Amino acid sequence: MSDLNKQKIVESVPQTGFFGHPKGLFTLFFTEFWERFSYYGMRAILVYYLYYEVSKGGLGINQQTTLAIMSIYGSLVYMSGVIGGWLADRIFGTSKAVFYGGILIMLGHIALAIPGSFTMFFVSMILIVLGTGLLKPNVSTVVGEMYSVKDVRRDAGFSIFYMGINLGAFISPLIVGTIGMKYNFHLGFGLAAIGMFLGLLVFVFTKKSSLGLAGTTVANPLSPSEKKKVFTQFAIGVVLLAILIAVAIPAGILTVESFITLIGILGFVIPIIYFVVMYRSPKTTSEERPRIIAYIPLFIASVMFWAIEEQGSTILANFADKRTQLDFAGIHISPAWFQSLNPLFIIILAPIIGSIWVKLGDRNPTIPQKFSFGLLFAGLSFLVILLPAYIGGKDALVNPLWLVLSYFIVVIGELSLSPVGLSATTKLAPAAFSAQTMSLWFLSNAAAQALNAQLVKFYTPATEMTYFGVIGAASIVLGIILFALSPKLQGFMKGIK
Ligand code: GLU
Ligand code: ASP
Repeated sequence: MSDLNKQKIVESVPQTGFFGHPKGLFTLFFTEFWERFSYYGMRAILVYYLYYEVSKGGLGINQQTTLAIMSIYGSLVYMSGVIGGWLADRIFGTSKAVFYGGILIMLGHIALAIPGSFTMFFVSMILIVLGTGLLKPNVSTVVGEMYSVKDVRRDAGFSIFYMGINLGAFISPLIVGTIGMKYNFHLGFGLAAIGMFLGLLVFVFTKKSSLGLAGTTVANPLSPSEKKKVFTQFAIGVVLLAILIAVAIPAGILTVESFITLIGILGFVIPIIYFVVMYRSPKTTSEERPRIIAYIPLFIASVMFWAIEEQGSTILANFADKRTQLDFAGIHISPAWFQSLNPLFIIILAPIIGSIWVKLGDRNPTIPQKFSFGLLFAGLSFLVILLPAYIGGKDALVNPLWLVLSYFIVVIGELSLSPVGLSATTKLAPAAFSAQTMSLWFLSNAAAQALNAQLVKFYTPATEMTYFGVIGAASIVLGIILFALSPKLQGFMKGIK
């Protein structure tokens, strides 16, 4: 998009109206709030829905397969951002992408709300994967479009938006989780659908008056000849895929297991292709090339971090259900409530950690150093879970406060890696690829969850201590290596701080 167009968009957005920020931030904040409400509420109960016995309202799938499916699902949700980003960039613009995405997501939750079978779950997963790929990266891109490049409120705007994400993620396990676990899973999924519906209402009814031209332009539209080529290739691709699936399923080649392996491979192959293309592109300048090299270790660190963080909704959710005292201090705790802890701690700690960075001024740690803290705390959060089993044995139920502590520690790491990571991605990616940086960042989470789908195979009650110990230690070792490398990486970044 040209600078002139960017300027026109900024001018079209009412520049105040939401806590001193552009009015459109209200629209985007609540759209994303409700979208995350639906996503995290659904995930807080989905894990139990999949493995609970049929007599308890679940699908009765094997526990290990469930944990792998949850990871693959999470991986695909972030992988599809590549498609959503591309469609917005080249065909219909970000605003329409958000709208279509919201509709697909809502339909996905409705599919789960209808009591059904594994097939219904599969349909819902496809809808939510595609919908989130359309909505999630694009709604964040529109946040950026409302501020001029020099606007000092820009970072604060993203922080407020980030609070919206975590507020939605915080309340939904308490609402969707409570209703879904206590009464009926499908009622819970229904509430997630209503949440997304409310998000769509906010978006549709307020966007005209608050977003101006933001999200309405197509950044890099396809030329008519490109369009023809792309549509033909797409049609051929769909037909080939359909034939492949139709042959592979009856032949026993496409099973849940082989699908998990396939996504595991894609989770890594896609970011590798991204890196190679960016590095070799003639549009990448000689100053930008070393920055790509410096970004690779940061990307790897990010994968390790999200691998641990995302296990909070799979392995630790299972741990909450099976290994934790849920009758505690006179109340019965729903295992789904543990999913509120991460976002709760984010909301509490984000302002504190943010102000520490500001106070440190010149002594502020560098980007690679902050990433290494992220790994350190992620590793510690797993080692902490090891302790109760070490002290009390493998069979005794664990005091829930250990889990609370683990979620608390990982959040300290999350706050030193996640907000920094997104802005580092935008600064380190070559300018010619700036439209795709949001998707690139989400690919680290996609790779992490693809890795998790493989890791869960090693998680059994008998191997629990080794599992948390090895992964926690690996993260800490990686953090130390990154810390040692950080002065060198800083050199490769060519002035980016
Ligand atoms: N919890 C974050 C969100 O939902 C994770 C996304 C990321 O990988 O940055 O936005
Ligand atoms: N902290 C996550 C994110 O920033 C939310 C969660 O894990 O519930 O959105």
